[in-house]
Amino acid sequence: MKVTVFGIGYVGLVQAAVLAEVGHHVVCVDVNADRVSQLQQGIIPIYEPGLTPLVEANVAAGRLEFTTDAAAGVAHGEVQFIAVGTPPDEDGSADLKYVLAVASTIAQYIETPKVIIDKSTVPVGTADKVKQLIQHGLRQRQQDIQFDVVSNPEFLKEGAAVSDCMRPDRIIVGTYDERPRDTIRELYEPFNRNHEKLMFMDVRSAELTKYVANCMLATKISFMNEMANLAELLGADIEAVRRGIGADPRIGYHFIYPGCGYGGSCFPKDVQALIRTSEQHGYKPEVLYAVEAVNVRQKQKLMQLVQRHFDNSLQGRTFAIWGLSFKPKTDDIREASSRQLMEQLWQAGANVQAYDPQAMEEIQRVYGVRDDLTLVGTKEAALKGADALIICTEWQQFKAPDFDLIKAQLKHAVIFDGRNLFEPERMQRKGFAYYGIGRGESV
Ligand code: NAD
Repeated sequence: MKVTVFGIGYVGLVQAAVLAEVGHHVVCVDVNADRVSQLQQGIIPIYEPGLTPLVEANVAAGRLEFTTDAAAGVAHGEVQFIAVGTPPDEDGSADLKYVLAVASTIAQYIETPKVIIDKSTVPVGTADKVKQLIQHGLRQRQQDIQFDVVSNPEFLKEGAAVSDCMRPDRIIVGTYDERPRDTIRELYEPFNRNHEKLMFMDVRSAELTKYVANCMLATKISFMNEMANLAELLGADIEAVRRGIGADPRIGYHFIYPGCGYGGSCFPKDVQALIRTSEQHGYKPEVLYAVEAVNVRQKQKLMQLVQRHFDNSLQGRTFAIWGLSFKPKTDDIREASSRQLMEQLWQAGANVQAYDPQAMEEIQRVYGVRDDLTLVGTKEAALKGADALIICTEWQQFKAPDFDLIKAQLKHAVIFDGRNLFEPERMQRKGFAYYGIGRGESV
């Protein structure tokens, strides 16, 4: 099939590459000319495991192309994906300007029947707006061309996006009527061979499903963080509690890890957006208020531990930070816990010496060159002469470090572990002051 994807970010690029891999001919359109030109030169602008070879192979096979030419994009695909960003507006609701800009572009250039698939995460009612905008554009052009708008939210996880798109748990499709279903079935047939993954529903339920999924996941994290804070006060170990509750199949082990708060481009903004949607409908979503409030508080946690340990005297100290991305296996630093921590450390007059396997370029781009930030090439180099080590992201390579080396390089044998990678007792035996999240009294 001929497919066009508007928006070549984490979602659009991965989806496009995966669709090309199974044989569709995909043209990607983006307004960011630098990004398009990078991709045309074979430079992949984001880090996602397995993505580079997939893009290279499909570009070479002529099934994957990149352009800024929106008119050509609209002309190409019988299926048109909208996969642009929906960042938070000033009041936390989803800003739809990019989504509606693509809808206007389609309205401007559409000449043949299309199925328009909204992949961006958008509030309930957005498909109606996209439909109306295109209908309005066609009326202005005095054209009558058949088109369908479909809601097909994306559930990929950054860090595992390629495999998630190749082997989706489910493919949610919201349609107004039966008409576009055959096209959708044909498009996703390669991903739907062994088990029925396609779930057709009404458009509003599909739009809401995405928010409810992310809000449920964020709720699990905030709930565990709340319990971790309580465990700390009670002298209990939240890691033992986590294993204890996970054994109950009704609870399960997935996604109940306590830590220094959730970040990323989705959970914070999607929780806020669903709060705003609820309020706009006169409903106070008490659970979601708490999910957000607990997360805001949890992102202060590492700084509080650091301040307490060093008696609020951080001026002139240097902190080694391991992990800057909001989670492992990505270079995405949007809303990452590391950023709030670094900003607080800088405000307190401290310096940061940081290492991340993938996110340092992004950090450099956002913060520029500054005296109180040194980005180094290895996790060991980050330790040299630092007052303490702070772990913000659970990259695999941080999980079994050389503790003797850590001790030798740091000025003080202190570790603040925002991801509970180590056992407090063992750390104590090794002579460290070790602070985890919710691990009994901090030693
Ligand atoms: P992103 O910021 O990485 O990429 C968005 C891209 O859209 C950018 O390259 C931007 O230049 C481009 N764009 C903006 N306006 C455009 C226009 N008019 N025409 C063409 N391109 C345009 O965003 P993302 O992380 O890929 O997220 C996209 C959507 O998918 C969001 O709604 C997000 O909530 C949702 N989502 C994201 C994830 C994730 O893990 N990142 C997962 C599921 C769903």
